[in-house]
Amino acid sequence: QKTVYRNFPMVPRVVFGQGSFSQLGEILLPKRKNADAPFIFLIDDYFETRDLVAQIPLMFNDKIIFVSADEEPKTAQVDALVKMIKEEYDEQPSGIIGIGGGTLLDLAKAVAILLSNKGLAEKYQGWDLVHKPALYHVGIPTISGTGAEVSRTTVLLGPEKKLGINSDYTTYDQVLLDPDLTKTVPKEQWFYTGMDCYIHCIESLTGTYLNAFSQSYGEKALELCKDVFLEDIPDEESRDKLMMASWHGGMSIAYSQVGIAHAMSYGLSYLLGIKHGVGNCMVFQHLEEFYPEGVALFKKMVEKHAINIPKDVCANLTQTDFDVMINVALGLDALWENALGKEWKSIMTPERLQALYQKM
Ligand code: NAD
Ligand code: ZN
Repeated sequence: QKTVYRNFPMVPRVVFGQGSFSQLGEILLPKRKNADAPFIFLIDDYFETRDLVAQIPLMFNDKIIFVSADEEPKTAQVDALVKMIKEEYDEQPSGIIGIGGGTLLDLAKAVAILLSNKGLAEKYQGWDLVHKPALYHVGIPTISGTGAEVSRTTVLLGPEKKLGINSDYTTYDQVLLDPDLTKTVPKEQWFYTGMDCYIHCIESLTGTYLNAFSQSYGEKALELCKDVFLEDIPDEESRDKLMMASWHGGMSIAYSQVGIAHAMSYGLSYLLGIKHGVGNCMVFQHLEEFYPEGVALFKKMVEKHAINIPKDVCANLTQTDFDVMINVALGLDALWENALGKEWKSIMTPERLQALYQKM
């Protein structure tokens, strides 16, 4: 049987550098279709009252839409944004610019896809269900770790499932990496989102899907994470390094897969609305039997930065609740197979998974 290798899309253009946000206007100018085809900026509402807003290169009938990142993106939210944009403008926009963390980056990708593909967002959750190129879309992260700026997925909570729109058209056309934008991230959030990157590295590097492509990115990302979270380096250097760690961590899992922490974190998110970064940390600390070295180092990082990971979130759950979480988690076959091999179902039984959840 012949192996079929994946033909993987990458971000074709990227700018990196402190203060590079000031170049956004020049970057967008040649992509303007005409004066009636606006750029739509989807921006984390944290920035609504900040200086950044004055630096947005607005022209003609461009529009800023502030969006809260308090909850992870939903298919219905994508549909509502698309409807609003279609109602307000006669022409297709020139493009969509997402500015924020993984939440806003995912939302902007999904809106760009749904503006050029008919129907509801939930229809496209899955693998390679998008058939038309998305609108031109630009991603500008303001917090580092998820790798959403490089990935070919946008993770959405739908009516029936939390699942990505995985497609060749999801990937950004342009990314702008300005580490200065991450200066204001609160410490706990910095840690949780940064650990998403660290966990991407561990799950990729210890997985059965590992290959030299993923390894080369994963090892670099891990080295950068260690510098950021275990050494005492200047803040400026730390912001630069974490932004590149996120990029490499994203590239690493793109050509392999994540693992147990992510599968379980999806369950927590689906049932309890626990966000990705903190959910991963809540889970990962209890996975020493699967990732002994990774968890030991993780605990050092938690201690060094005096982070209090939330506890007892599963204390009052019913058996039905556990069943829901277990179903969501065990439904992610590829993650388990990557972590535990082809025979994973005999290793991770529902009972064993429930016992792990009960520790949280
Ligand atoms: P986030 O976007 O949810 O933001 C977390 C918090 O940080 C929010 O309160 C936000 O307002 C705040 N924030 C962001 N930038 C800030 C700044 N510069 N200053 C002050 N506050 C700031 O966080 P995240 O961890 O980056 O993203 C999580 C989301 O990413 C989840 O929805 C998850 O599903 C998704 N994700 C996607 C991928 C992918 O490949 N597409 C990968 C991993 C995670
Ligand atoms: Zn992740």
